[in-house]
Amino acid sequence: MKQAMINTDADIPLPPLAHRSSCRCALHGRRLFTGALLAGAAAPALAQIPECKRSTAASLVPADQLEQAAAQQYRQLLQQAVEQRALAPADNGQLRRLRVIAQRIVPFAPECNERARQWKWEVNLIGSKQVNAFCMPGGKIAFFYGILQKLQLDDDEVAMIMGHEVAHALLEHARERMAKSTGTNLLLRGGAALLGLGGLGDLAAQMGSQLLTLTFSRSDESEADALGLVLGARAGYNPRAGIRLWQKMGAVGGSAPPEWLSTHPSGETRIREMEERMPGVMPVYEEAAKPRQRFGPPKG
Ligand SMILES: [Zn+2]
Repeated sequence: MKQAMINTDADIPLPPLAHRSSCRCALHGRRLFTGALLAGAAAPALAQIPECKRSTAASLVPADQLEQAAAQQYRQLLQQAVEQRALAPADNGQLRRLRVIAQRIVPFAPECNERARQWKWEVNLIGSKQVNAFCMPGGKIAFFYGILQKLQLDDDEVAMIMGHEVAHALLEHARERMAKSTGTNLLLRGGAALLGLGGLGDLAAQMGSQLLTLTFSRSDESEADALGLVLGARAGYNPRAGIRLWQKMGAVGGSAPPEWLSTHPSGETRIREMEERMPGVMPVYEEAAKPRQRFGPPKG
């Protein structure tokens, strides 16, 4: 596989688990959705799974403004990567791999959240040793090279991480967290902006900076695990990889836990929950059209 060279040791000052992403992207467009319709015809609707229900608290924070703020943060991250020659170009083998996997997952997104139909999905790969990945509100996905390399992820494992991160975005967990922490403040400032009193730029900046420090609740994580497994399975990736992934995460923990792990505690409970979900999700995987193209991890 051709590997375009990038700096894989960039120092991108990201707080742990930002759940947002960056980049120029090749992934948006109707192309994605056409493929999805075909792939998903026989499977049960995602909307039928309870994890697709979103909190009403989220409505306190305007989704379009949050998505705009996320897009801004994503651009900044990509810009930082460009400055350090650490943004993977379109012909980078691992980036192509991520985009192929995303193209199989993303078409199912609107079944869970109608807004996702309008999102300008982007998938980028950042040359950094961080073990991290995220999907920001609005469908901005980023993977850090470290998560692919250190964990030597196979395609099924990558799909489970991507499914999990996309699930957070579809379930609007960031919007819900923000509504619960600073809902009133945002509402007031949002109201002022609507009345033409200014402050819209401030609002976006405030939301953007919150995206950087957001941590999700244990129940958010559990919901994202559940939906992520279904998304990955519908896309034709084996959900058992979810269990393997958490075992790998646990094994690389130790004295310097990876960024992703710091906001995604592994451990027996999580793995047991995943095991319990397998009987429900394996039939979905068995029925799904499987990917014809398979990729390997970066050379360790
Ligand atoms: Zn998560």
